[in-house]
Amino acid sequence: MSKIIGVIGGDGIGPEVLTEGLKVLDAAGVELDTVSYDLGGDRYLRDATVLTDAIVQEWRGLDALYLGAVGTPDVPPGVIERGLLLRMRFELDLYVNRRPFHAPDDSFDFEVIRENTEGSYAGEGGFLRKNTPAEIATQGSVNTRFGVERCIRYAFDLARSRPGRHLTLVHKTNVLTFAGDLWQRTFNEVATEYTDVATAYNHVDAACIYFVQDPKSYDVIVTDNLFGDILTDLGGAVSGGIGLAASANLNPDRTGPSMFEPVHGSAPDIVGTGKANPIAAILSAAMMAEFLGEASAASRIREACAEVKNHQGTTTEIGDAIAERV
Ligand code: ATP
Repeated sequence: MSKIIGVIGGDGIGPEVLTEGLKVLDAAGVELDTVSYDLGGDRYLRDATVLTDAIVQEWRGLDALYLGAVGTPDVPPGVIERGLLLRMRFELDLYVNRRPFHAPDDSFDFEVIRENTEGSYAGEGGFLRKNTPAEIATQGSVNTRFGVERCIRYAFDLARSRPGRHLTLVHKTNVLTFAGDLWQRTFNEVATEYTDVATAYNHVDAACIYFVQDPKSYDVIVTDNLFGDILTDLGGAVSGGIGLAASANLNPDRTGPSMFEPVHGSAPDIVGTGKANPIAAILSAAMMAEFLGEASAASRIREACAEVKNHQGTTTEIGDAIAERV
């Protein structure tokens, strides 16, 4: 049965790379109906709309969302991030951010599972005496047993499904002693149910060194929202650059659609030039296909991307080359 996908091209190179992703899904035989949503920085500048309740309601009936990139230099920071991306994560309960990292020379292959709805992103905090010399700003980190445990369980299930069967918790338990304690205790308790998965722990600062010096030591990593945000950018940098990095924002319980997007931003500096690499968006489409039960199409797309990753060409030419191979 055909799936219904909400497509949010967004700003800058977002629509350009999604066009290639949809082309490749079609070539791979994934049957999709699409509904387009005009959202992002450009829309906000036009009529001050970031996201409406009606759109969120409509999304709940879809099978998945496919997003290009949102953000334009003229919109103040936070408006689109909080109003669209974070709201989408909270409302659709996209509690797992999953990002695979594969070395260009095949020397490593690991995945990061980032908790996507809590931590420092929950919006806890505020100002006191704003704009006075005695100003105070606080920014809390929210960690619930429920939220931490469901993310850790997802990571254990993923580790169990991979040949490496290894899961590393990354945190900063020696300094963040309350949140870190909850994460470590929950991790240790859940681990007793996954005796076939080997476990390890790294402080986040040490993990940054290993990402660069010994990435092959990792199989699956699970970490909190903020550490995950930073680590996954580093992961992208050591595994071929931002033009290749795919991601999935998952609601593993499937109580609503999950969202798939390339990690890169709207790249206003190259919009319209044909320089945007569509592979990150195409690999995100492969993650979407896999989540929707099209595992064979997903692996054909991944193989085709691996074959063309060193090709020179425009956005459309690279998309065409991948579409031909799938
Ligand atoms: P944002 O705030 O939306 O994240 P940004 O400009 O800070 O935007 P990116 O859009 O990710 O961040 O761009 C960072 C740099 O990487 C830019 O120089 C951009 O041209 C380049 N870049 C991003 N995505 C791609 C891509 N798919 N192909 C080639 N270059 C890219």
